[in-house]
Amino acid sequence: MTNDRLPGPSKAVSLPKTGEIERLGPSGRDVMVLGLEAPGFEELPTDSKIFSYYLYRAAIAGDPIMYMQNHRHAFEIKQMLEAIFTCPAEMPEDVRDSVHDYAKYFWIHHGNYHHGTHTKFLPNTMTRESLRGAAEIALANGADLKIGSETLDEKLSRLDRTIFDIDYETLQSNQAKGADIVATSAVNFYDPGLTHDDINALGSEWANKINVRFKNENGKAVPESFMIGGAYGCELETICHFLRLAIPHAESDDQRNALESLVEFYETGDEKLFRRHSIHWLKSDTTIDFLNGFIEHYIDPRGVIANFEGNVSFASSATLVDRLADNVLYFEKKMPWPDKYKRKQIERPVAKVVNVIVESGDAGPVSPAAYNLPNYNDIRRDHGSKNVMFLNVENSRSMELFKKMVEEFYLPEYRENQLKYRIDVIRPLEVYLHEIIGHGSGQPDRSLEADPRTAIGRVYSPLEECRADLIALYHMSDPKLVEIGAFEAHEQQTVVEAAYVSYTQGWMTMYDRIDGYQVREAHNQGHQLILMYLVENGGALHVDFGIRVIEQGGRFFVKIDDPAKVRVGIGELLGKLQVMKSTGDAPRAADLFDRFASHVKPEWKDNMIERLAGLNVPRLKAFVFPRLTPVMKNGKIADVQISNQEDLTAQHLRLSRLRHSTDIGKD
Ligand SMILES: [Zn+2]
Repeated sequence: MTNDRLPGPSKAVSLPKTGEIERLGPSGRDVMVLGLEAPGFEELPTDSKIFSYYLYRAAIAGDPIMYMQNHRHAFEIKQMLEAIFTCPAEMPEDVRDSVHDYAKYFWIHHGNYHHGTHTKFLPNTMTRESLRGAAEIALANGADLKIGSETLDEKLSRLDRTIFDIDYETLQSNQAKGADIVATSAVNFYDPGLTHDDINALGSEWANKINVRFKNENGKAVPESFMIGGAYGCELETICHFLRLAIPHAESDDQRNALESLVEFYETGDEKLFRRHSIHWLKSDTTIDFLNGFIEHYIDPRGVIANFEGNVSFASSATLVDRLADNVLYFEKKMPWPDKYKRKQIERPVAKVVNVIVESGDAGPVSPAAYNLPNYNDIRRDHGSKNVMFLNVENSRSMELFKKMVEEFYLPEYRENQLKYRIDVIRPLEVYLHEIIGHGSGQPDRSLEADPRTAIGRVYSPLEECRADLIALYHMSDPKLVEIGAFEAHEQQTVVEAAYVSYTQGWMTMYDRIDGYQVREAHNQGHQLILMYLVENGGALHVDFGIRVIEQGGRFFVKIDDPAKVRVGIGELLGKLQVMKSTGDAPRAADLFDRFASHVKPEWKDNMIERLAGLNVPRLKAFVFPRLTPVMKNGKIADVQISNQEDLTAQHLRLSRLRHSTDIGKD
């Protein structure tokens, strides 16, 4: 065993690690790890770079929170794995590799529940015996396994079922009908032993709060707010340290107010301050932007408690996005739902295309393509929202793989248009319409007192994602898109049909993201609802939405008979979802999702999986972000450099070293 296998500072100058860096899993099919570039950072004014650096450190400081939220043992296991495989002591190569491999999955998913499916995964090659053997060697050689008052044996047996037993706490977030969704979910928002009734019994003040977890004290649910002095207090303190350093560099009053309210929110745990932060944040239209907070609700089975995410980005130009943002009210008027649920006024949304520098917690290494925030519906109604799309994330792909996919999965008559329009025209438009026109649209019925999120409950997130997707598909045929230069008038029919095909067929090619035959994740449920509602004609007799899944030569394909009828189906489903959202109709929404969105046909899925296997398509993309390094002068940051020299391992070990650190210039 020589030291050069160990991750550490790279020797001399090496080539930048961008594009595909490594593959994980059998045949490399689980994950494609890509090095993400952030072109244009170097040209930013020095003050913007320094501002970015502080926000970057604030994002990184919160990353451990996501492990802690995902499972009560996740952060501990991550620390143990890192200490073992980086231990320079002699140990069998395959043992060290098996621990290292599991650690990579841990970094990518922030624990051992899949980021997309919320179900547990096991180590690929690490066994009980190899873990124990490696841990013993590491411990004997001084590795810090955080044993505490336990023996190694006690620690390993306490963690054993969490790591090795797939039947133990299999679901991170169990939203199955009829289940006690709190008691049967492994997510660490609720201590073991607590039930849904225990949470409801605390009253709406606690049950509707986004920044709280519940301890089990002698069978009683005791709320613990996410705040300095409360849950994740040390992490939040470090975040606040860097946010305070960032404040003097803010580009506008709104941005400064957003930062100040965020610090106060973390100090007090008072959600009102996060709401105030969100309003200032959504109004700040600046070159450097950031996310930092408890934002998305996907892993909470109740859909209320939010998990940490952070990012930093800088604006890039995009005229199409601006023109869409100028026309939100135009599209709102043309929505296929009753006028009383249409917004009469919409402030022009802040819509931006950015290059992201770093994403932490829920936002990375597995990155969304875009976001539309805040999630508070009343703030969206009264103040609007901010839409941000990640250009460098969206652009990172393998073209070679794309061509092979089109060849394999699309009927011959669709292939040329997929190649021509899918990447440059359809995909960006889908994302822009989803984010800019979709999420911000519609309004609740005046009689609805609760936020639609609370009223709809467990299927709220899927409903909202589905609604935004449908809005993108629905408006794809609107003449306004020609007017604003999305494509030429003579191309519209072709683009519309290609968009319908690629949405439905494209989703089927992602069936490998589903565990078994059950669809759980919100966006995936949204895709599945659209596909099945359309091909099953909304479950009605004598209705035809003009789209089928056909079998040809042992392979399943989406076939469109009549794009105009498809649009009728899209409009019908969209109208239904909006009425459910506006009126808070939880039972109907749950029925619809249980009926169309929760299951995939085994023969379709098996067929997709078989064909995907032949192409070696990775199931997931994960990013290694650029590293920012401050250039110090007289104890102050004089400039900030950006580099792409790290691989996944080097990056995450550095994040570990930075935990709670407020040092600058030494990372
Ligand atoms: Zn969305």
